[in-house]
Amino acid sequence: MKRIHVDWTRCDGHGSCAELLPELYTQDDWGFPLSRTGEKDPAVPRALLEHAEHAVAACPLMALRLYDAPEPARPAQPGRGQTSRSTRSARATVTR
Ligand code: SF4
Repeated sequence: MKRIHVDWTRCDGHGSCAELLPELYTQDDWGFPLSRTGEKDPAVPRALLEHAEHAVAACPLMALRLYDAPEPARPAQPGRGQTSRSTRSARATVTR
């Protein structure tokens, strides 16, 4: 999974990132990008990767960067490698 990062030491609120990636960024009152997801570095869906690469290339201060991030861990689901307590007790009842 890719994430996009704003280097705040470079960004001057030019605003083109919010125009090119409106799904991920909006602008605050001064033109600085605000993540729409609330994440510091929003995850970039595969469908938006090309747009994100374009936004990175278009940033006049080279303040945007894409990087690889590990996929978030998914919670385990009963029945897929783990057995829930109710499933275990139901099996125990059947085998008696
Ligand atoms: S385009 Fe670059 S400089 Fe402009 S607001 Fe976005 S990150 Fe900041």
